[in-house]
Amino acid sequence: MKIDIQQLTIASAKHGLQNYEFSCVDLVEACFDRIRMHDKDAHAFLSLNEKQAIQDAKETDRRIKKGEPLRSLEGIPVAIKDVIMTQGMPTTAASKILEHFIPAHDATVVTRLKEAGAIIVGKVNCDEFAHGASTENSAYGPSHNPWDLSRSPGGSSGGSSAALAAGFCLAALGTDTGGSIRQPGGWCNLYGLRPTYGRISRYGLISMTSSTDTPGILAKTAEDTALLLSILAGHDPHDATSLPSEVPNYHSALATPLMGLKIGLPKEFFEDISDPKSAEVISQAIGVFEELGAEVKHVSLPHTKYGIAVYYVITPAEVSSNLGRFDGVRFGHRSTNANTLTEVYTKTRGENFGPEAKRRIMLGTYVLSSGYYDAYYKKAQKVRTVITKEVMHVLNDVDVLLTPIAPHPAIKLGEKSHDPLAMYLEDVYMETAALAGIPGLSVPAGFVDGLPVGLQLMGKQLGEATLLSAAHHYEKATNWTTKHAKL
Ligand code: GLN
Repeated sequence: MKIDIQQLTIASAKHGLQNYEFSCVDLVEACFDRIRMHDKDAHAFLSLNEKQAIQDAKETDRRIKKGEPLRSLEGIPVAIKDVIMTQGMPTTAASKILEHFIPAHDATVVTRLKEAGAIIVGKVNCDEFAHGASTENSAYGPSHNPWDLSRSPGGSSGGSSAALAAGFCLAALGTDTGGSIRQPGGWCNLYGLRPTYGRISRYGLISMTSSTDTPGILAKTAEDTALLLSILAGHDPHDATSLPSEVPNYHSALATPLMGLKIGLPKEFFEDISDPKSAEVISQAIGVFEELGAEVKHVSLPHTKYGIAVYYVITPAEVSSNLGRFDGVRFGHRSTNANTLTEVYTKTRGENFGPEAKRRIMLGTYVLSSGYYDAYYKKAQKVRTVITKEVMHVLNDVDVLLTPIAPHPAIKLGEKSHDPLAMYLEDVYMETAALAGIPGLSVPAGFVDGLPVGLQLMGKQLGEATLLSAAHHYEKATNWTTKHAKL
């Protein structure tokens, strides 16, 4: 039978499978049919896992037929960002230097998805090593936004958002170091959850900025996001920074009444939305929350203005250290033009890293070098502490913070790719949650000239359940998530 993947959610697909409306092979084949038809336009995938996926689907069908207990993500097709390690499958980080890298083990998030019965459709594009906000830094060319193919699907997890919005899968994993899940979510009418730092294990991610990196979820509804978070969250002995805290039932928490929820609007986040139509979408969304019984309060986070500057000192510093392992000896495709040991290092790295990775290595090495360390890196760490304390303080008075995701809807491909600073400024609303380690969620909130606009909810540490239930009530009161990109 013909399945319309775009109309399905994880929840409805599970229902369809259990009630024999379609088989899992039908479901997975429907994804690959769409990929064959439309991925030449969207360029979401870097590699496909079709043979294994069909085999896994047959196993699901066998379980269903036999009446065996179904696992929580039984037969659900998902896409995985290519900075997340997958055993036996290419993992390139969208870089030339890892072009032929096949990991020996899975990241914990992948292990957990597989244990829950999910089916991996393939690996999706991103900015090289997740450095960027548009996928234009991918060594394999940019992904395109299914809502308007001339535009970016966001970044760095833009392959994840493009694949999901195009109907190539039912959910996608991304990583968020400084916005890379939330912003692509916002630009593609999707939920994008950056969890609390430590809520989901980082084991098996190709590290970018270890102190802010976190894997997370792109999904179509709050319910699907909650379902995935329940599976992915929790302590992992392989990641010393993963939190031992108990994992709540995020799904049953969705029903928590919204009445009386205190929503803070930090005024600094509303001062420079460059697009008045996006500002109007956000203000209408705030009105919906009020109608639903939320109490809206105006708050202030005066150090927000230093977020970008702090992030773009700390990130290159950690990047320059984390990319050190790609030297053609420990990891990375070795240059064939090298005659001496020094040339092995310099040519391997010189030939195979893209311009943005090189820029970050140089900036990072600079801010960490003796004589500059105190002036840049140490200062940035101090301001990071101030930003963190400030947002924690404000979150004592309110339950969540509501802000825009981006100053405007998806940018045109090529619009900012020549100007690194302009690209960095795209992250203006993203760095607070990243630096403070608190959760942030993009929520579909409407459209401007046919392009999706998202709002961001930020919450207390481990406050994911509150974000998801607030979003769930908003979603039920609006119809944004029922709209799909036309390819
Ligand atoms: N745009 C940000 C950067 O380029 C965020 C990237 C990310 O979250 N991976 O650093």
